[in-house]
Amino acid sequence: MTALPAASLIRIKRVGGKLDAAQWRALANGIADGSWNDGQIGAFAMAVAWRGLDADECRLFTLALRDSGRCLDWSTLPGPVLDKHSTGGVGDCVSLALAPLVAACGGYVPMISGRGLGHTGGTLDKLESLAGYDVHPSPARLREVVASVGCAIVGQSADLVPADRRLYAVRDVSATVDVPELIVASILSKKLAGGASALVLDIKTGSGAQTPDEDAARALAHRMQAVAAGSGMALAAALTDMGQVLGREAGNALEVHAIVDLLCGRPCCPRLRELVLALSARLLCLGGLAADPAAARARLEQALATGAAAERFARMVAALGGPTDLIEHPRRHLPQAPLQLPVPATRAGVIAAIDVRALGECVVDLGGGRRSSDARIDHAVGLAAVRGAGERVAAGEALAIVHARSADAAARAAAQVAAAFHIDVAAPPAVPLLRWLQD
Ligand code: URA
Repeated sequence: MTALPAASLIRIKRVGGKLDAAQWRALANGIADGSWNDGQIGAFAMAVAWRGLDADECRLFTLALRDSGRCLDWSTLPGPVLDKHSTGGVGDCVSLALAPLVAACGGYVPMISGRGLGHTGGTLDKLESLAGYDVHPSPARLREVVASVGCAIVGQSADLVPADRRLYAVRDVSATVDVPELIVASILSKKLAGGASALVLDIKTGSGAQTPDEDAARALAHRMQAVAAGSGMALAAALTDMGQVLGREAGNALEVHAIVDLLCGRPCCPRLRELVLALSARLLCLGGLAADPAAARARLEQALATGAAAERFARMVAALGGPTDLIEHPRRHLPQAPLQLPVPATRAGVIAAIDVRALGECVVDLGGGRRSSDARIDHAVGLAAVRGAGERVAAGEALAIVHARSADAAARAAAQVAAAFHIDVAAPPAVPLLRWLQD
């Protein structure tokens, strides 16, 4: 049978028809090898936006994207290969702790992470606060680090899901970034190519989330579950609250410091610690490393108490070119901004609501995130000691401490922070940190 040209495949989707497995493969390969031009890719993306994909087509599309490049093979490792994905939040540095914790409990975590997206931070940017940390090791080095340390958090290499790389760039300029089917195929194709057998999915909801609307977040999770189930990957999905900054810090080096404190058993934000443990525990269960959540928790607490998780983190950082004594001397290796300005509450009361997106934008304005893909990041700046929803504050008490490069930047950020907090007399209804979705 002769293959259909790109325009015919696009037309089938445009009029609401279905593509078969071979046609999806032709489409993904055509995008990856450059035989489809950007106009055709954009037309395809828009056809999907209008017509949608059913669960089976979404699975076929995901698998075709996965197979457009190299897939990592971890079959020689003696334990399960586990991974986690978050839709992105402000102060969400869970991956930095989850990967070494799970590794300390017998899992293998080759985590392909991304950079900051809009107002939410990116795991790779956080790790690059550490001088020398190489987010693009060679395939051989990646394999060595995962095999010896148990975890490696790195960026996507050019040969992993190349069709998604092109498709994503076109989506960005064709108003199709937020198309659910395209998001599902984009995320899961990369996780499948990365070789994970099980994945926990953390979907944020609330003012700081990419998908603030809860129904949309829930629908996205269900689509992901359906595609994962048909692709041989175990997946557990949770909705988590982004109605406040996840931890107490938002900013690259500040968040790495918070994770070092968490892993070393020093005082840290209980919400951040709880989310790290809950997602890690579920992953241990999915990977067969614990019989139930209680047993998983006990293993994880032990990995923290014995320093085993901190040691994995230190070894991962050192093996990927970062400092060899980070745990002993975090301050020596994490850049600090020259100015620190507390932002006082203008009245006493309870923090009733927080515009978390505005806090994320504030970090970007300070230089801690990007406005364009080639912009440089200032790893030292951000917000520390950020207060949470429902907390009582006295007039003049700090809502957060701005870490800035200049007095002007600090003053601008302080005004943004003050405007993002709504202080009232009554406490807001409590929002659960995490809700697991049924399969
Ligand atoms: N992250 C991805 O990799 N792809 C998307 O489409 C959205 C988030």
